[in-house]
Amino acid sequence: MSTESSPEALDETAFDAVLCVVAHPDDIEYGMAAAVAKWTAAGKRVHYYLLTRGEAGIDTMEPVDAAPARADEERASAAVVGVERVEFGDHPDGTIEYGVVLRRDIAAAIRRNRPDLVVTLTHEETFVGGNLNQADHRAVGLATLDATADAGNRWVFPELVADGLEPWKVSGVAVASGSRATHYVDVTGHLEDAIASLEEHRQYNDALPEDFPKPPELLENILGGSARAVADPDVTHALLLEYFAR
Ligand SMILES: [Zn+2]
Repeated sequence: MSTESSPEALDETAFDAVLCVVAHPDDIEYGMAAAVAKWTAAGKRVHYYLLTRGEAGIDTMEPVDAAPARADEERASAAVVGVERVEFGDHPDGTIEYGVVLRRDIAAAIRRNRPDLVVTLTHEETFVGGNLNQADHRAVGLATLDATADAGNRWVFPELVADGLEPWKVSGVAVASGSRATHYVDVTGHLEDAIASLEEHRQYNDALPEDFPKPPELLENILGGSARAVADPDVTHALLLEYFAR
């Protein structure tokens, strides 16, 4: 495995339960949801854990109104791709702080949900392609990598054990949208699922600038563009991941 060569296919037989950990409603829907649709269709259990309700994401809507609206939109997006369990943390949208509080909340979510695989967004300064990443994504991405270790260690956050959350060891953690993809998930045939999932963010999408690409164009660019890094010509759409075994 090398970042110089093509990414290799992720061994999807190696996991049955997945937890997606991100900062905001819609973070999962910019590509990751295509893989989620594939996995739930195959009988895998996928849960979402979001650190915020995205209350600072709509300029024309007060946070007190945006929080429940966007949480509802995320639940609808999740349902479209077969996900029934969506949990929200109580961190503030826009000002999530990296630190032990964040790591503990994510470790607790991992212990509650007991996934084999955790998937998150990149903590790098830029996304693949060069657009600047966002502060909450950087904090949550890095804390999620750390929390996959914290979740398995009885002596880190012992108060979680006191609350009945026994240690849980994940088998791996994967990072989407970063510049160092090692693996891919073939999501050919799941583009429409991904589009339908993103389209559930109706109030959020409606508030985007007129010239912002619509979900079909956006996801074709992301998933179709990612497939060009894959050596297999039968793969027309792909989710690229940097994968770490735990
Ligand atoms: Zn976000």
